[in-house]
Amino acid sequence: MDVIVLGGGLMGAASTYFLARRGVRVTLIERNRVGSGATVASFGNIRRSGRYLPQLPLARRSLTLWGKAAEMLDRDVEFRATGHVRLVFSQAGLEEMRSFATAARPWGLSLEELTATELHARFPGLGPEAIAASFSPEDGSGNPRLIAPAFADAARRIGAEIIENVEVKAIRRSAYGFEVETSNGIHAAACLLNTAGAWGARISAQFGEAVPIVAKGPQMGVTEPLPHRILPVVGVWAHDHGGGYLRQVERGNIVFGGGAERTDVSLDTGHAKPDPARLPGQLRALLPILPALANVSVIRTWSGCEGYAADGLPVMGRSATAPGLFHAFGFCGHGFQLGPGVGDVMAELISTGATETPIHDFRIERFHRRDEGQGPG
Ligand SMILES: Cc1cc2nc3c(=O)[nH]c(=O)nc-3n(C[C@H](O)[C@H](O)[C@H](O)COP(=O)(O)OP(=O)(O)OC[C@H]3O[C@@H](n4cnc5c(N)ncnc54)[C@H](O)[C@@H]3O)c2cc1C
Repeated sequence: MDVIVLGGGLMGAASTYFLARRGVRVTLIERNRVGSGATVASFGNIRRSGRYLPQLPLARRSLTLWGKAAEMLDRDVEFRATGHVRLVFSQAGLEEMRSFATAARPWGLSLEELTATELHARFPGLGPEAIAASFSPEDGSGNPRLIAPAFADAARRIGAEIIENVEVKAIRRSAYGFEVETSNGIHAAACLLNTAGAWGARISAQFGEAVPIVAKGPQMGVTEPLPHRILPVVGVWAHDHGGGYLRQVERGNIVFGGGAERTDVSLDTGHAKPDPARLPGQLRALLPILPALANVSVIRTWSGCEGYAADGLPVMGRSATAPGLFHAFGFCGHGFQLGPGVGDVMAELISTGATETPIHDFRIERFHRRDEGQGPG
């Protein structure tokens, strides 16, 4: 069996690695550099709190792989299971936290509930006005600049072909399966995996599978370094204070996001720009989470082009119109945590025909209308 993976973000690079590990002949085609799309822009949150519940088995599978990543990929991708704290500032936040914690337990996620006193004793300096918090000790963060290249390099070492910086001119069905015409020649394979991120719907549409997706850019920033005092990743329940979140990297800088509307991004350029006018409001929203931010300089802001599907869920699974075509795209701002699991699940599905992790809710047919065609012949 052979597979072409189209799009070398975290999803494509991880899928390529796990396919190669299963003995599949696999070629990854990326039009820029591996990992240079939404993946490199990510905040790096490896969080399960607040997720769509039926996604938790996939998130669990992924978390296990994050824990093995350094050994598996022979590189420290800076996964740190520092825990994830989510602060509660309001009654609505308390209710949201408790109902999620109760509902998530049967799905295998146990959240600790902290009183305000426990929160302030365990995590001094965080949320002085918070009335409670949840703590998920196994979650944490990883380095968004390292993970996709690490998967691609590991895949190359076990036989995968990684092609970067090529223009994809056409994608065709053939008697054998699929042909992808690029600026460095034609590549053919029996199967095609679409991991083109925010651009994935452009590829699925060529096969008669329209997906309502918009491209948006969440705004991120990083401060000058401070003494390293904050271990866990920190967020809030009920979108209080604009839903801000932050973490402190080991070098001391505080990376932050949330608290500002996402900007519109054109898929033609894919260029997501941070908006300086939104930064003061974003920092104001973060102050209740970490008052120490009041006296700190922001040294860089950035954004990235991410695809958001109309129902907030990704597209994963086999195509409903083209045998041999598979999709894993549109991760709606929460794909970094899922990446290793998505790669493993897609490799399992493609090479064995099934996957033990439920992904039914993410099937592409949920968007289909009866009158849609069958795509290119
Ligand atoms: C600013 C920001 C912060 C985020 N923070 C978090 C977070 O903290 N936690 C979390 O879980 N998630 C987070 N996310 C979401 C997460 O980063 C994404 O869901 C994930 O990286 C998506 O990976 P991907 O491989 O699907 O997409 P991408 O990384 O965008 O990769 C898709 C690749 O496909 C390539 N491509 C597209 N079309 C073609 C084509 N025709 N031919 C060849 N190549 C093509 C692109 O060049 C790109 O490299 C964040 C996203 C952003 C933008």
